Amino acid sequence: MAAGSAIQIPSRLPLLLTHEGVLLPGSTMRTSVDSPRNMQLVRSRLLKGTSLRSTIIGVIPNTSDPTSDCDDLPSLHRIGTAALAVQVVGSNWPKPHYTLLVTGLCRFQILQLLKEKPYPVAEVEQLDRLEQFTNQHKSEEELGELSEQFYKYAVQLVEMLDMSVPAVAKLRRLLDNLPREALPDILTSIIRTSNQEKLQILDAVRLEERFKMTIPLLVRQIEGLKLLQKTRKPKQDDDKRVVAIRPNRRINHIPSTTEDEEEEEDHDDVVMLEKKIRTSSMSEQALKVCLKEIKRLKKMPQSMPEYALTRNYLELMVELPWNKSTKDRLEIRAARILLDNDHYAMEKLKKRVLEYLAVRQLKNNLKGPILCFVGPPGVGKTSVGRSIAKTLGREFHRIALGGVCDQSDIRGHRRTYVGSMPGRIINGLKTVGVNNPVFLLDEVDKLGKSLQGDPAAALLEVLDPEQNHSFTDHYLNVAFDLSQVLFIATANTTATIPPALLDRMEIIQVPGYTQEEKIEIAHRHLIPKQLEQHGLTPQQIQIPQVTTLDIITRYTREAGVRSLDRKLGAICRAVAVKVAEGQHKETKPDRAEVGEGEDCKEHVTEDAKPESISDTADLALPPEMPILIDFHALKDILGPPMYEMEVSERLSQPGVAIGLAWTPLGGEIMFVEASRMDGEGQLTLTGQLGDVMKESAHLAISWLRSNAKRYQLTNASGSFDLLDNTDIHLHFPAGAVTKDGPSAGVTIVTCLASLFSGRLVCSDVAMTGEITLRGLVLPVGGIKDKVLAAHRAGLKRIIIPQRNEKDLEEIAVNVRQDLTFVLASCLDEVLNAAFDGGFAVKPRVERLNSKL
Ligand code: ADP
Repeated sequence: MAAGSAIQIPSRLPLLLTHEGVLLPGSTMRTSVDSPRNMQLVRSRLLKGTSLRSTIIGVIPNTSDPTSDCDDLPSLHRIGTAALAVQVVGSNWPKPHYTLLVTGLCRFQILQLLKEKPYPVAEVEQLDRLEQFTNQHKSEEELGELSEQFYKYAVQLVEMLDMSVPAVAKLRRLLDNLPREALPDILTSIIRTSNQEKLQILDAVRLEERFKMTIPLLVRQIEGLKLLQKTRKPKQDDDKRVVAIRPNRRINHIPSTTEDEEEEEDHDDVVMLEKKIRTSSMSEQALKVCLKEIKRLKKMPQSMPEYALTRNYLELMVELPWNKSTKDRLEIRAARILLDNDHYAMEKLKKRVLEYLAVRQLKNNLKGPILCFVGPPGVGKTSVGRSIAKTLGREFHRIALGGVCDQSDIRGHRRTYVGSMPGRIINGLKTVGVNNPVFLLDEVDKLGKSLQGDPAAALLEVLDPEQNHSFTDHYLNVAFDLSQVLFIATANTTATIPPALLDRMEIIQVPGYTQEEKIEIAHRHLIPKQLEQHGLTPQQIQIPQVTTLDIITRYTREAGVRSLDRKLGAICRAVAVKVAEGQHKETKPDRAEVGEGEDCKEHVTEDAKPESISDTADLALPPEMPILIDFHALKDILGPPMYEMEVSERLSQPGVAIGLAWTPLGGEIMFVEASRMDGEGQLTLTGQLGDVMKESAHLAISWLRSNAKRYQLTNASGSFDLLDNTDIHLHFPAGAVTKDGPSAGVTIVTCLASLFSGRLVCSDVAMTGEITLRGLVLPVGGIKDKVLAAHRAGLKRIIIPQRNEKDLEEIAVNVRQDLTFVLASCLDEVLNAAFDGGFAVKPRVERLNSKL
């Protein structure tokens, strides 16, 4: 802004609250913006605004405690400085923030706060009459001596400095050219003053008062300089540069000021940074690079975008835990207890983890394989990873890899790019602050691939013990030793993990839980955790095991326990409301007076002590404790059951059979439906099937056609050629899920056999198995998950391939007891087991007779 022209600031100003310093009119300040309110202001005013007016903001020194800035607006300092935002630089490191360069225009006073959110806006009154600057003589007359005296001190001060420094020479010239009224503000921001003193100057609205207050500050600075020059006479030149002027607080609103003046760096900070670099324990190579960068930084003007980048880089380098590690405290017995305490069941996994830890204990720098837990969601893979970190006494950090399709996510961007950042590995190390954390690479099976390179390839380098001691992130551009990091991976399926990556890992399958296990997990772990999270005690809520079983069977259908956990959370929330209401209404009359005759009483348990939450009509009453969650309460809170035992209903017609499928989310039961109609002998398949599944369907039809006579199967017109004038349609419901794999073979055969024979498949039978053209049944995978799914769905008999018998051992005894297993080696055995009364091969003669 030109000094000669008057400034009229808008009557409404958005307010920027600064902790870092006090901006005075006529000076420029660089301030970092990271509080939500200030960030909003920058985003919606400065970055979106197009007019010059929109770049004028009110800068208010925030005198309150910086930490209390987040929620309520602190009480605002009454006087502030209207400022022009000259430059906005955004950065994401170490957290999203902006750096603002603001130049003070004039004082204003807040008349009324108009709004607080998303950023404060106030109606203001301009205090500095800027038009009076245009008339120098008038002000000189008014202030006369005071201003003259001030000017003399200012000249004396500047002349004590080293005139060979261009900035000082310019300042000397400015003293003559600037209107005297502007001098107190400008000099206060140049000389060494505390924020408190600056605040006093800001509050000094009357010019006379301002002159009076600044003169002592000038004198103090002059005296200080004199003293310094006396004590350090020999190195006079250097002293002058270092001591007197804070070069980053520059004046730039004066027409004669050239840009280079404002572009000086914050020397103190850079010196500090250099000191930190030298004292940090970074590798020699890194130190060399950093020292080179700091040299560049010193020469760089502060307003150059690269300045912030280089600085961020150096700050990251200093912060990285080059040599900092936690001490492992590994005691196998304690580890076993801890794992057992934290997790119920999952014996196989715990055993393997303990083996792994035991080997680590014996051989410290184990270069073993990376453990990879594979299983459906919610079975505790992540939480075991966390427990491992806890047993080792190490820091834990989770890196979610789902959807990552850019290798720079892992390896960082080169620093030449705008907005470049280090990769997630280096970022994680910075977050945990030690170089030997446990890193959980979550969902390695969901890594993507794109034009930006293959993240799996980048991960290989991270995970390979032969290479990872010198992992080079593109951003750092120097090697960092990852060999101390303990990597654990999790995945839902191994099918989509790139083979090279799979090769580096040891797969540990984590199957789903049985109902009994889920009940135990719920009562030992999930419910206590939810109670604690909701501030409830067991004296306030009671969830009996039957209720948990109801939730598991009717409200969730999953292999893990995540939905169960959520449902329990919903129950706790509902109870928390009741409890809070009860506390509020403690003085209300007891329930006998009001609750009489309410029909919802019928589900209150016999002893009538615990109160069901379903007593919604009794809202006015404080509930008696503990609140019992019975099925009615469950219905009130969670709504009607989502899953009913629908199996038998769906099997009420010929041409339907139940198969068992394996998906990354665990095992599932799968209905196969078939129908026939007049046609040309075509087979139609629907329900998003993969190629292997389609082949199974063709195989099944071919086998049935070749065995039609043996089983006396005919089409509608009585022909043994099943496809003669007949079309068949096979459908696999739940069409949104892609299904593939050979294991539906036996189900398709059974379903078609039912269609052509007109007989119903037993409603409690499920089956799985691959078929051959000759009618053999071949083994399939995922038996444990499939059996659990059948058990969950309430089925009783399961047909599996004979050669899968060994897999049954892995299944919990109580599940096995509930089920009957039929081991089949050929399709005849399958059909026999699938139909009530068997599916016997009929003697041909008899059938022929009847036909004739
Ligand atoms: P995943 O990583 O397999 O998807 P999580 O580790 O996030 O699953 O587990 C989900 C929740 O279930 C966690 O709160 C965890 O504590 C709990 N959980 C899962 N399995 C068990 C178990 N066997 N014992 C105790 N809690 C469990």
